Amino acid sequence: MKIGFIGLGNMGAPMAVNLVKAGHEVTGFDVANTPPEGVSEAASAAAAATGKDAVITMLPNGAILRSVAEEIIPAMSPGAVLIDCSTVDVDSARAVASQAEAAGLGAVDAPVSGGVGGAAGGTLTFMAGGSEDAFAKAAPLFEIMGQKAVHCGDAGAGQSAKICNNMILGVTMIATCEAFALADKLGLDRQKMFDVVSTSSGYSWTMNAYCPAPGVGPTSPADNGYVPGFAADLMLKDLRLSQQAAESADADTPMGAMAQALYARFVEEEDGKGRDFSAMLPRFEKRGRSAE
Ligand code: NAD
Repeated sequence: MKIGFIGLGNMGAPMAVNLVKAGHEVTGFDVANTPPEGVSEAASAAAAATGKDAVITMLPNGAILRSVAEEIIPAMSPGAVLIDCSTVDVDSARAVASQAEAAGLGAVDAPVSGGVGGAAGGTLTFMAGGSEDAFAKAAPLFEIMGQKAVHCGDAGAGQSAKICNNMILGVTMIATCEAFALADKLGLDRQKMFDVVSTSSGYSWTMNAYCPAPGVGPTSPADNGYVPGFAADLMLKDLRLSQQAAESADADTPMGAMAQALYARFVEEEDGKGRDFSAMLPRFEKRGRSAE
């Protein structure tokens, strides 16, 4: 296939490389980065999209996606498919999809889980929204860039699934970290805490697979000075998207709102920026009950 790839950052560049390795012809465009080896460079987003069977975008946010979509949709050939893999707000995903469909294109919102390691290793999980037909066209590419793709429903369903998952993740990480900090203050050994919780009803992915306590459980960013991993800033972005969606859908999400407030404080006022999202544990560790 001839593929246009727009947004060649930490995630986009290795994803584009995997498509090249699988034998596809990939043309890339990024406002700041030059394409990785094997990906030819276009002079603009529109040029990267012209005459392609599929165009993939991997961009920072919904506003940028909307402006790139304005530029590339008129340049794409009818019948081609626009696949947005960025994490953006549900409203932007739906708006871009209807604009693409009105122009005779297929559209899929397909945010990913798996991070930079998953992008490089071709082991991402894609959660996709869009028509059956558009999903079918995108599926062979998901197979190359990832290990699993779930067709979640119509336009926006991929973004909806992503932010619901990550709202659970943010809330659960905070619960795991505050429980460790409480256990410390009760004099409980962290290894014993892990041994009990990881095999009891408090178990979770954050405890069992990504334990925030160094030296306990499987190797995780906690064992590497809380270098991300999954940065607290990105967790905050996803929690904000979840609350924006909850607002527009009139959903009551008090724990999600609390997690958003805590990560905002951690990233913007404390030392959380650039650290892994599990660095909430040393944050709680330092605090007492009456801390502001
Ligand atoms: P990044 O900032 O490394 O990459 C984004 C790229 O888009 C940059 O290279 C930037 O120059 C480019 N860009 C910005 N505006 C552009 C424009 N108008 N035209 C062309 N290129 C433009 O970010 P990333 O880590 O690669 O993340 C990309 C998306 O994937 C985000 O939506 C993020 O939330 C999501 N995501 C990231 C991770 C992760 O672990 N990094 C995991 C899952 C999902």
